[in-house]
Amino acid sequence: MRVLLVEDDAMIGEGVVCGLKSAGMSVDWVRDGVQAEAALREGGYAIALLDLGLPGADGFEVLKRVRAKGIETPVLVITARDGVDDRVNGLDLGADDYLVKPFELRELQARMRALIRRRAGRATSALIAGASELNTETHELSRDGVTEVLPAREFALMLALVERPGRILSRSQIEERIYGWGEEVESNAVDVLIHAIRRKFGKDVILNVRGAGWMAPKS
Ligand code: CA
Repeated sequence: MRVLLVEDDAMIGEGVVCGLKSAGMSVDWVRDGVQAEAALREGGYAIALLDLGLPGADGFEVLKRVRAKGIETPVLVITARDGVDDRVNGLDLGADDYLVKPFELRELQARMRALIRRRAGRATSALIAGASELNTETHELSRDGVTEVLPAREFALMLALVERPGRILSRSQIEERIYGWGEEVESNAVDVLIHAIRRKFGKDVILNVRGAGWMAPKS
């Protein structure tokens, strides 16, 4: 799962990046409003964490502009401002939730999960694609009586596929979803992950579409 973090405070930023990475997420961290807007326009994020007090453009400005352009990425505002006016303003401008600093990583992660679920229109944390069921909280994949907790990258890959069963993702789309900016990606990294998942759950857990990419089967 790819997350955009917009935070100009180095200490908070490093703490959040470290915590989310160890939870298996891929985090792109930008430190000003201009880069934040550019990244959101580029897309591909399951969620954005947005600080309000930023150099370049204020978080409110960023939010207003990206929502005006029809960009629907869920946005969780993280800020030290805790005035009611700021909260109301943020939510009115299209933020999905609000978390006041200082916060605990556990709460941040729980709210992120809730937002992602809500956006997908689901009440539970299980994603189903054909015979496969992926639990987004425990990272367990179940199929044909086999249940295993997936390591971080395998989970990110399966999540990308089962979010929309039947949709084909190319190698570069998958890489984009599971690796952050500037991370070295071996040319066969996706194949290695798919091989590892198939070894546990059988060949049909992920389908090849020749010349196009891979998909999670719908049935
Ligand atoms: Ca700030």
